Amino acid sequence: ILARGRDVCKRNGLLILSVLSVTVGCLLGFFLRTRRLSPQEISYFQFPGELLMRMLKMLILPLVVSSLMSGLASLDAKTSSRLGILTVAYYLWTTFVAVIVGIIMVSIIHPGGAAQKEMTEQSGKPIMSSADPLLDLIRNMFPANLVEATFKQYRTKTTPIVKSPTVASEEAPSRRILIYGVQGENDSRVQNFALDLTPPPEVVYKSEPGTSDGMNVLGIVIFSATMALSWAAGGTPWSRRNEQKAAQEDTPSPAQAKSQPRACHFWPQQAPWRYFPFGIVFLIAGKILEMDNPTTVGKKLGFYAVTVVCGLVVHGLFILPLLYFFITKKNPIVFIRGILQALLIALATSSSSATLPITFKCLLENNHIDRRIARFVLPVGATINMDGTALYEAVAAIFIAQVNNYELDFGQIITISITATAASIGAAGIPQAGLVTMVIVLTSVGLPTDDITLIIAVDWALDRFRTMINVLGDALAAGIMAHVCRKDFAQDTGTEKPLPCET
Ligand code: ASP
Repeated sequence: ILARGRDVCKRNGLLILSVLSVTVGCLLGFFLRTRRLSPQEISYFQFPGELLMRMLKMLILPLVVSSLMSGLASLDAKTSSRLGILTVAYYLWTTFVAVIVGIIMVSIIHPGGAAQKEMTEQSGKPIMSSADPLLDLIRNMFPANLVEATFKQYRTKTTPIVKSPTVASEEAPSRRILIYGVQGENDSRVQNFALDLTPPPEVVYKSEPGTSDGMNVLGIVIFSATMALSWAAGGTPWSRRNEQKAAQEDTPSPAQAKSQPRACHFWPQQAPWRYFPFGIVFLIAGKILEMDNPTTVGKKLGFYAVTVVCGLVVHGLFILPLLYFFITKKNPIVFIRGILQALLIALATSSSSATLPITFKCLLENNHIDRRIARFVLPVGATINMDGTALYEAVAAIFIAQVNNYELDFGQIITISITATAASIGAAGIPQAGLVTMVIVLTSVGLPTDDITLIIAVDWALDRFRTMINVLGDALAAGIMAHVCRKDFAQDTGTEKPLPCET
């Protein structure tokens, strides 16, 4: 029993750690609320969580660049131009449809718009303490934006906030004393004077992370050193390609498949995932400490999760299968039954890349898809086709806007649809990559990126469902392409050797 328990823990390590971190974060947050911490203490408490956000943001640039480059580089337009163009067009189109489904769902359910914003403004933090320069040093080690790091560095800034008098406005008139009939010595005029005893506005100081001019050499050095170390260890920043090659060359067991992308990915991509359980405790507890009414936010978060799941169900169980049916005139249920194993692996691993070998196997063995088509459509799909991620990013961005009472106009909704599509293309097929690229969608319409912390608590669960839809989208695309391009691939040239995972 012990050995089995250990095996289960090993296989579901990330899931168990995520659940534990969320639970510990919530408990710690609620417990510390009873301690009435000062804003300064809260901001120090939030520091490990802030560090996690920094690591995630730092990944955007290399992640998007490497993911897009490797995805486009794997297109072999010379030999399969028709298949290539059709596949990419289909992927873009279905991803955009997924985004629209998400936008419709979030507009109907309106998970974040019922009440006023619950987050309190951080105000009244006292003047900088001696800990701030040390925290700045650590912040500078993890530049959220590598390009910005070439001309800016982090430095905590202290800004004065003028607070209105503590007296209620109705009370103010009673604090005015009117002095009537005061007469000057040589003046016969009678003057009235009013002595205003209303307290002057209170000025408090707020210290918060800011930036100042000057190159962040430390951040650039740390980033370059970790890249160099990963190269030295045999990985490359483009190891998504290695991963795809490995998927084609080996026959991994489901357990190996799960660990495969981890072994291939360069470690700066891995670091946030290792730090994730620790950082998330402080992120969640810090957010709870900041909140006015955490239970109302919890309710909203539940509605948000339901909205995402409803959108995924509509897209995965209705739109994509119907599309498959109209194009191929075949039964989508039979097709989906053939890839059930791959869908379960996607649910278990939260990674469409890790699921790739199983998707291959299912498509070839159960659904009898031409291996040349599967070889092309699946790896490209695992890189650029993420319907579930795109849908989730659109819903999450609009949810954050609703929570902040931010009215989005039509132009901004269009911007969200386009950036959510682009961000899903840029997301890697690894657990919670969508959370990282989410920043792109939020910044495109000026929404607060820090509010990603609001949705982190449920992201580990939603990630599993959206990964299933990502894998389903890739597999159905292979089925559709096999039908549309059947004439091009009618002749078996015999030059294509079966891959180990196909036998
Ligand atoms: N985990 C997802 C995948 O591998 C990506 C994401 O949305 O985070 O497909």
